[in-house]
Amino acid sequence: MQTQTDTDAGFFGAFGGRYVPETLVPALDQLEQSYRRIVPEPAFQQELADLLRDFVGRSTPLFFARRLSEQLGGARIYLKREDLAHTGAHKINNAVGQALLAERMGKRRIIAETGAGQHGVATAAACALRGLECHVYMGAEDIRRQRANALRMRLLGAELISVDSGTRTLKDAINEAIRDWVTNVETTHYVIGSVVGPAPYPEMVRDFQAVIGREAREQIRAATGRLPDEVHACVGGGSNAIGIFHAFVPDSGVRLVGIEGGGYGPDSRRHAATLSAGSIGVLHGARSYLLQDKDGQVSGTHSVSAGLDYPGVGPEHAYLRDSGRVEYSWAGDEQALEALKLLSRTEGILPALETAHALAYSIERARELPSDQTILVSLSGRGDKDLEIVEGLV
Ligand SMILES: *Cc1c(COP(=O)(O)O)cnc(C)c1O
Repeated sequence: MQTQTDTDAGFFGAFGGRYVPETLVPALDQLEQSYRRIVPEPAFQQELADLLRDFVGRSTPLFFARRLSEQLGGARIYLKREDLAHTGAHKINNAVGQALLAERMGKRRIIAETGAGQHGVATAAACALRGLECHVYMGAEDIRRQRANALRMRLLGAELISVDSGTRTLKDAINEAIRDWVTNVETTHYVIGSVVGPAPYPEMVRDFQAVIGREAREQIRAATGRLPDEVHACVGGGSNAIGIFHAFVPDSGVRLVGIEGGGYGPDSRRHAATLSAGSIGVLHGARSYLLQDKDGQVSGTHSVSAGLDYPGVGPEHAYLRDSGRVEYSWAGDEQALEALKLLSRTEGILPALETAHALAYSIERARELPSDQTILVSLSGRGDKDLEIVEGLV
């Protein structure tokens, strides 16, 4: 186990690190070395850029939500359309990057875990593209909530492994994936789907997702002649949020806000608002904020959105929160559903339930701001996967 005094141990301030079984340390060292050596190579960057263009469909558009903005009567809302990326969310940016890296490391067996199923689908697609063997762990409860994505993974050639332990959701799927990795570490690369886990994952996943903000920063300057006043993104583990925030962190005039899954509200104990209501601890290999009881047992979470239903959050978000650079808020299930309906009807875009949490905040905020202000929102994914859940609720 490493401590904060290690200079290159992958800490963001007091957060991050590598709290893992000793058997994984060599694999993380190898991953870190390969990542630092291989990813910057021009040949890797060229191949990644080609795949992001031709397979993923980048760059994704920036869309001015004119009718929504007019209806709210305040700030102008721009949407970064990650919902138009291949497989329907931002997850594919990271999955393709890690699949390419695994290949160069000579590891052709891939494992992944998935909550809503988007990361599992993205990883299965990237593995099919490169001819890699793919095994995806998914909580039984999530398989029930996200049947279409479970079928997609199987059709893409992945083996889907149902996890019946614990709350049968993402946290338990991650535990099983870590167990698999410990056993098969020689042959296997673990594709983590968000900016969580032991170093170097939070940094590596951020770097593969930072393309979102790089594009959006250029696009919004071209569209409006300046930087946005605010950038909003939903936060589960935090990868789409870090992805869009990263390019704006040095721009001190741009207010950055991450929105967590508020479920029935932070006082209800049925929520996933880790940064709003959690405390510092260690989960899945990193030190960060998490939802835990007074004995340090990880709490059960609830969000209508499977992708936000996670008791932890990426360590860089913990750092950005405590340093004051990024603010964090939450939106509840009800507000998210209202936002989903409003965007669908005003703009013809059906967002993912995760994304709808960011939109709920943006809608409220736009009403407060004058019409010469602009808000950039990460439209992290499309809502097709959520139809069955939404059907009973709207
Ligand atoms: C997975 C997912 C999220 C949450 O994950 P982050 O790592 O926080 O981005 C948000 N939106 C969509 C559409 C997702 O699929």
